[in-house]
Amino acid sequence: MVPYDIRVIGDPVLTQRASEVTDIDSTVAALVDDMFEVMYDAPGVGLAAPQVGVSRRIFVYDSDERAGVLINPVIAETDGEWEFVEGCLSIPGLHWSVVRPRTVLLRGVDLDGNAVELEATDFEARIFQHELDHLDGVLLTERLTEEQRRDAKRALLDLTLGSPAVPPSGGLQLP
Ligand code: ZN
Repeated sequence: MVPYDIRVIGDPVLTQRASEVTDIDSTVAALVDDMFEVMYDAPGVGLAAPQVGVSRRIFVYDSDERAGVLINPVIAETDGEWEFVEGCLSIPGLHWSVVRPRTVLLRGVDLDGNAVELEATDFEARIFQHELDHLDGVLLTERLTEEQRRDAKRALLDLTLGSPAVPPSGGLQLP
């Protein structure tokens, strides 16, 4: 059994800004191990800590080219534009075509506390941007055009109502 359930849209932890990791201790290392397990089990190509209910600035990824963890990541540079059909483990079953920068340069630290710089393009850059959004409490639904949101409204409502984590008066608010 995987150590965590993946939180689904409607869960408040997914819309909070996650806090910086100040102390990279054994708790963080254990969390990262668990996050990899959850990501591979899903299966997914990236997973951010808030998706397992932990509001900390950590994500793991495996783009096929490389795999790793980034702690306290920031986007230092972006370039170009790229349209790609994107999904999210926290919005199961739904996908949308979304435009984002094609290339990104990320900075953060690894599990040993060493500074890391990652440059990525296309698919891998998309993973990084998507996971970084999660750390800022931004879900894929906020990247949609108004038309995409309108079309998705019913399906999203079903998802939030189906989630046990939804607060009674909460749920999705789409314009
Ligand atoms: Zn996601």
